[in-house]
Amino acid sequence: MSEPTDTFDDVLPEALQRVSPAPLVDIGANLTHASFSHDLDAVLRRARAANVGELILTGTDREHAIQAVELARRHLGRAPSLYATAGVHPHDASQWDSALEADMRELHRQPEVVAVGECGLDFNRNFSTPAEQEHAFEAQLGLAVESGLPLFIHERDAGSRMLEILKAWRDDISQAVVHCFTGERATLYGYLDLDLHIGLTGWICDERRGHHLRELVGEIPANRLMLETDCPYLLPRHLPAKLKGRRHEPALLPWIAAEIAHWRGDDEASLAAATSSTARRFFGLNALHEET
Ligand SMILES: [Zn+2]
Repeated sequence: MSEPTDTFDDVLPEALQRVSPAPLVDIGANLTHASFSHDLDAVLRRARAANVGELILTGTDREHAIQAVELARRHLGRAPSLYATAGVHPHDASQWDSALEADMRELHRQPEVVAVGECGLDFNRNFSTPAEQEHAFEAQLGLAVESGLPLFIHERDAGSRMLEILKAWRDDISQAVVHCFTGERATLYGYLDLDLHIGLTGWICDERRGHHLRELVGEIPANRLMLETDCPYLLPRHLPAKLKGRRHEPALLPWIAAEIAHWRGDDEASLAAATSSTARRFFGLNALHEET
């Protein structure tokens, strides 16, 4: 239902105001990032105007996971619906210890938390050593088994090691999505063979480095595919107008959906409907709002 406040304000130029023909779910929004602290309500209003109905706020460390849960809690009953993940990003894996593990376990018990993560391996930058990353990741795989929650996984330049680890854990974890997938065909098929889900961002809109994804996206079954902005990062490069500040936000998700629909040969409405129902099922999104 539209409310009178469902308008784009002048932050997004008219050329960037795009409304999805069916409600979208943004499965990766870093709305606890400092760049959103001054205008979060307006950001959420614009998401609603763009027909982005549900957002999953990425919790990348203790502080941000707590903030994401609080934000989702404060916003309960209002649109768009907000949920949170709670995990420790591979960049911060060196901080993993038993106190952090206990805090994460407690966060995973909160009704707003719909996944364990963001966690995984990033051998591109190695801000934590590979050994530290594997240790923190396996500990979080253990927490996912304990809680039964799905995993929200980050993998960059670590596809083959990630596949080995996930193969070993696959029977014990419920489900996992590899978010912001940017890898090659063999890695993609490795994930799909393990019956995992794939999250796609605006990476595909990048003419410099997203080319290989254009041929691959059509090979992902619709019931394994979900969409995300990963905002404020990864502002799509194909937008038809400049955005002041170059901060990516959930209201721009329809541009990514349209680009992915194009390369899959889908129409926008059916891609939106399919990816949203996949996301709702994967994260169990209805439960929280039905209970309350
Ligand atoms: Zn990530």
